[in-house]
Amino acid sequence: MAYKEDGKVDVLTEQVKHLFNSYYSAGFANIGLAAIFFFLVIDSAIVGYATFWFVGMVVITIALVAVSFFLQNKINNDNARGLLKIYFGLGLVLSIAWGFIYILQYQLGDPDVRIFTFIAYLGLISTSTSIVMAWFPALVAFIFPQLTILLVVLILEEDGASDYIAMAAIVYSLLMLILGKKINHNLVVSLELQAINMRLVDNLNGEIGEHSQIQKELERQQSDLEKIVDERTQELVQINTSLHREIDDRQEAEKSLRYVEQYDQLTNLPNRALLLDRIGHTISTSARERWMVAVLFLGIDQFKKINNSFGHGLGDKLLQQVANRLKLLLREDDTVARNSGDEFVVVLEHVEQAHVAETVTRKMIASLNEMFVIMGHDLHIDVSIGIAIAPFDGEDPQKLLESAGTAMHRAKQVGGSRYEFYAEEMSHEIRERLNMENRLRFAVARGEFFMAYQPQVDSVTGKTVGFEALIRWESPEFGLIEPNKFIPLLEESNMIHSVGEWIIKNVVRFIHTGGSQGHRVSINLSARQCSQPHLGDFIQSVVDEYEIDPSMLEFELTESILLDDFKRARALVNRLQEMGCTIALDDFGIGYTSMGYLTQLNIDVIKIDRSFVTEIHRHDNLRKIVYAIIGMSQSLEIENVIEGVENSDELAAIEALGGHIIQGFIYSKPLRPGKELNDWLAASG
Ligand code: C2E
Ligand code: CA
Ligand code: CA
Repeated sequence: MAYKEDGKVDVLTEQVKHLFNSYYSAGFANIGLAAIFFFLVIDSAIVGYATFWFVGMVVITIALVAVSFFLQNKINNDNARGLLKIYFGLGLVLSIAWGFIYILQYQLGDPDVRIFTFIAYLGLISTSTSIVMAWFPALVAFIFPQLTILLVVLILEEDGASDYIAMAAIVYSLLMLILGKKINHNLVVSLELQAINMRLVDNLNGEIGEHSQIQKELERQQSDLEKIVDERTQELVQINTSLHREIDDRQEAEKSLRYVEQYDQLTNLPNRALLLDRIGHTISTSARERWMVAVLFLGIDQFKKINNSFGHGLGDKLLQQVANRLKLLLREDDTVARNSGDEFVVVLEHVEQAHVAETVTRKMIASLNEMFVIMGHDLHIDVSIGIAIAPFDGEDPQKLLESAGTAMHRAKQVGGSRYEFYAEEMSHEIRERLNMENRLRFAVARGEFFMAYQPQVDSVTGKTVGFEALIRWESPEFGLIEPNKFIPLLEESNMIHSVGEWIIKNVVRFIHTGGSQGHRVSINLSARQCSQPHLGDFIQSVVDEYEIDPSMLEFELTESILLDDFKRARALVNRLQEMGCTIALDDFGIGYTSMGYLTQLNIDVIKIDRSFVTEIHRHDNLRKIVYAIIGMSQSLEIENVIEGVENSDELAAIEALGGHIIQGFIYSKPLRPGKELNDWLAASG
């Protein structure tokens, strides 16, 4: 953008463009007016001059339009001033050309034509004001020559009106010039504003361009930055992994150090330090759960001899193989450790009964007595084991280990190749129990069990109403053994399932063969037995096999069965009752929840426990309880059987309370089937 000397914006080029852009309207006005004049005078004397003038005017106008058309797109700052001069010249030429019509009309002397020319003059200068206002000198150039000629002609005119017309033309022309100047000024100002606006827009575009440049730069820098961050992250990750590796290595090293500290290098078993730690841990967890902990201290008999005669290499291999056999033998929870030299220690957690320790010990001895084959030698070894049990033989690891060691030395002293309990009485008790357990295993097969039947008697009529079947074990070694002694053993060793089935079959056969003489017989079911899933099916199959009347069969359940798994017990009860059997709740009154079960299960009989009956005649409280139980059973229409009535005082007291079905020694002990039972039935009916 160009500036003038006074600091204003130079809009000359724009003004020139304006001038040259108006050629159509200028051309149209010129030719239009000229044509009208020509047609006005076409029949007059001046037609010759007029034709000449009209053609001239058309030529000038065409030239003007052509020049303008040609130049309009070529105007620039450099040629603007030169073009102005051309335009100025054209204005002058056109103005003089128009001046000729005033001279022509003067010659003609027609008042109408004179008026027309005057109006034409007014029209021309008003039009030109708007066309050439872009540049004031052009307006002057267009007005003055014509005005001068017009004034001269008017002055020469004879008639008086001409003077007034001349004066009007002057006034009008002056007004037009003033108006033209004003419009010109406004146009220039608006062009200047336009130029300034354009510049602002340019600047703005420039700034926008710059801005996007900056934006791009920023983006580039950002991506550079991201790249750098990526690289750093990568480096950090690498550092991190190598750090981790280092930590792992260190932990590995620490681990192996700890391993060396806690494990025996030869056998890979825990060493004495870790062993004591483990024993301590086991004692505390087992104590919380009321289990015992067994520590088995094992020494190889004559190990020194083996070492001396076969060398240390073989001795080491032997120790490794002993370790392996022990590991294979034991559960994962149990600990096998090497105490020192030829001494190994086994720790058993969660020991329920002391005889478990003995069983494991025997297995260890049996396994280690098997032949070892080492470096081509067949080797037999004997071991001695000492057993200590927490909490009895020591409650801290050190003491427990010592006790086990002492027991081991005692075993060696008496010849080796054996095991010893630290506490001898324990070993005795356990031995007896183990012995019994072993014997029990063969009792069914050897026919050492039999069923005894205790009558239940109606004290009012004195007649037998039923029997309870009670198992008996007659061992050739121990004699007649109470069920309270061996039933728990059967339960623990799971033998109760097979023995239980034997009992059911035996009793059903007894009913089938008429042993009970049409009386109901009840069978006791233990808790473990009831957890058998197919017990109901089994009973059904036996009942079917012997074709007995199921109502001859009653089953006695204790509350502990219901407590174990109530849903299962209820299903069993329902199954047996659907079959046609009756259900008795045994030992009623000694549990806590007996009453609750009565409402949830459809019990047929309750058996009032002997503890309420013994000495009942001396104790008012017992009488009250039994009275309440009898009353309740009657109102619930449940039969009641009173157990353990031994003498007439007790019987009298019971009868006074309304109880009359009695199972007790006062009438009869459990009877052997056969003569004993038959005699009873013959006597009592
Ligand atoms: P229980 O079911 O309460 O059986 C009644 C026990 O009381 C029987 O002892 C019986 O001989 C005893 N008894 C009956 N009347 C009197 C009396 O007037 N005075 C005294 N002092 N005792 C009396 P037994 O036969 O020694 O049975 C003991 C427990 O062993 C039974 O208690 C029962 O829980 C269980 N048992 C016995 N036989 C079997 C069986 O075949 N299967 C199952 N699962 N358990 C049985
Ligand atoms: Ca019973
Ligand atoms: Ca009972």
